[in-house]
Amino acid sequence: MPARDNELTAWDRDHFFHPSTHMAAHARGETPNRIVTGGEGVYIVDRDGRRSLDAFAGLYCVNVGYGRQEIADAIAAQARALAYYHAYAGHGSEASIRLAKMIVDRAPAGMSRVFFGLSGSDANETNIKLVWYYNNVLGRPQKKKIISRWRGYHGSGLMTGSLTGLELFHKAFDLPLSPVLHTEAPYFFRRADRSLDEAGFAQFCADQLDALIQREGPDTVAAFIGEPVLGTGGIVPPPAGYWEKIQAVLKKHDVLLIADEVVTGFGRLGSMFGAQHYAMAPDLITIAKGLTSAYAPLSGVIVSDKVWRVLEQGSDALGAIGHGWTYSSHPICAAAGVANLELVDQLGLVENARSVGAYFRDSLAQALADHPLVGEVRGEGLLAAVELVADKADRVFFDPALKVGPRLSAAMLERGVIARAMPHGDILGFAPPLCLTRAEADLIIDATAKAVASVAAELKSA
Ligand code: PMP
Repeated sequence: MPARDNELTAWDRDHFFHPSTHMAAHARGETPNRIVTGGEGVYIVDRDGRRSLDAFAGLYCVNVGYGRQEIADAIAAQARALAYYHAYAGHGSEASIRLAKMIVDRAPAGMSRVFFGLSGSDANETNIKLVWYYNNVLGRPQKKKIISRWRGYHGSGLMTGSLTGLELFHKAFDLPLSPVLHTEAPYFFRRADRSLDEAGFAQFCADQLDALIQREGPDTVAAFIGEPVLGTGGIVPPPAGYWEKIQAVLKKHDVLLIADEVVTGFGRLGSMFGAQHYAMAPDLITIAKGLTSAYAPLSGVIVSDKVWRVLEQGSDALGAIGHGWTYSSHPICAAAGVANLELVDQLGLVENARSVGAYFRDSLAQALADHPLVGEVRGEGLLAAVELVADKADRVFFDPALKVGPRLSAAMLERGVIARAMPHGDILGFAPPLCLTRAEADLIIDATAKAVASVAAELKSA
């Protein structure tokens, strides 16, 4: 029986523990309680009939857009034929095998196997275990530390929350755990030494990494993990030459590279993978979100042949690998993945992300160019950000207490567009579905220009 409106809201306040939500404020009824009921294309609709253009594709995941019948049909057909069987001890479903092949066909050169999970966090947990196993098999049990960047985002588990380089995910959880170290974020706009140009700053980041590895001892450092473009930490493309310089350091110290492509995988940057976009040669790749466009939860680790050969050697010595989840390669999720990747190809969404992405970012930058509070408009493909500053010339940031980012995001919503206030800094993030049209891009730009103007006026009058 459908719940009455106020009844559902009360149940939500009293019983639903929401992730990433101010718990007390929500229980007191001070935070929005938006109950989303439907979606079509780039739009979502809520229970009150409000329609919003979702310029963040949920949490940068609904890449093919909402309401795709093909994926719904594939899920239903799989549920009818075989809702579940496990993948332990060599079992599997046709959908999971087909999907593994489709992923490797699209992956950068040198990748050969896919381990499936359910979330980006568990896939990164798998990465860490594989890296440790790898070094144990190679007889280097002390080579275990993992380096990530400040502002990196790699999940919110114990080890993956440690890899995440954002204070919000550490404080009061006793994180980060000790095998995890952090190095400089490749955030050119916020570099401390403003005399550095992009190439100079990229070199600085590589030198910082080199110094950290030397300090810790190269024989103790196992892997470096990074998103090709920093995501939750602020949507920041790397400075020119960054990945080339970082990879030279990793090679020198025999440190593995994990590319976390949970956001960038399957077209977001206008290339199938960020690794291809930036000429990275990762040893392991994390995938999730765009793998199924979030029609069902599915993640994975794409394993390079180099790592796989050592893992194989390990099992000959140690037996079956002691790692797996009940739902690894769940058939319904795999069927969603197959239908989703077919749709990405059929609709030419990687190319669309490249061309509409360039149009969107250029037009957005033009629309905001002269605004005194807009410090930077940046992005790559259909991933973009607007960073607001109190003083553009001197690059002075706002007092976080002013909550400029959240106010901007609220001002966008009033104009019918969802854009995300990124958690650190006054940064408005955009990651629309990859099927975005130019006309829809124009709607986002128009709302952004108006929202920036209204927040600027509010700040001025205060
Ligand atoms: N890695 C990256 C780059 C992410 O952006 C995210 C989630 N936003 C994760 C890992 C973790 O994924 P999940 O929330 O599915 O655990």
